[in-house]
Amino acid sequence: MIKPSVINFETDVIWFIALEVFLLHAIGIYGLLTFNYLENLMTTFWIIGMYFISNIGVSGGAHRLWSHKCYKAKLPLRILYIICYSASGQNSICSWVKNHRMHHKYCDTNADPHNTQRGFFYTHMGWVMMKEHPEFIKKSKQLDLSDVLSDPVVVFGERYHLLLQLIFGFILPTAVPIYLWNETLGRAIISQIFIRYVITLNSVWTINSIAHAWGTKPYDKNIKPSDNNLVNFMTLGEGYHNFHHVFPWDY
Ligand SMILES: [Zn+2]
Ligand SMILES: [Zn+2]
Repeated sequence: MIKPSVINFETDVIWFIALEVFLLHAIGIYGLLTFNYLENLMTTFWIIGMYFISNIGVSGGAHRLWSHKCYKAKLPLRILYIICYSASGQNSICSWVKNHRMHHKYCDTNADPHNTQRGFFYTHMGWVMMKEHPEFIKKSKQLDLSDVLSDPVVVFGERYHLLLQLIFGFILPTAVPIYLWNETLGRAIISQIFIRYVITLNSVWTINSIAHAWGTKPYDKNIKPSDNNLVNFMTLGEGYHNFHHVFPWDY
């Protein structure tokens, strides 16, 4: 068994992603600390608004609807979800669902894409910039994704993933403050492409890191996923993670 540690380089680092994540966070954190939030309150509210939109796409769409089939959604709602999900700037929808189903099925083992045995940093963001574990690659081939692949909205989202992400995650969020309330290009870019993006990514990542490390376990004491109110606050309600691993189909 691998000993838990802060960082464990068990698979190769994908350096261009690591560099991308580093630059995004360096500029994002600098922006977060130095941005003048009072200069134009509309821009500040727009950061919060886009944070909500992105998280709803991840939580309501990619997670509850497509990964767990917690409820059924008609076409207009599914289209809305794929737009919101594209705004979050994450992996393609199918890879999100695959990773998440693997996480539930093989929780905290090498076939879990963010296995907690490889340390806190790995579960939070390290896994994004490292090659997949051979055990994950082997077992994920047996995973059934036929249900999501039969949804034309998912197929469309998968095929045009980068284009949708570019439009709804970067171009529109930046254009709105410039055209609707005369924000400057620089402030629009730093507030949306860096500050909002970094906050959104890290809020979702806390579910795999913080909610697998600290919190209460009212439903199953023998697993790592925990109910955590900080995660609840940061992710708009995804912090009941002990409950979620015991009853994943519950919306
Ligand atoms: Zn989990
Ligand atoms: Zn889940």
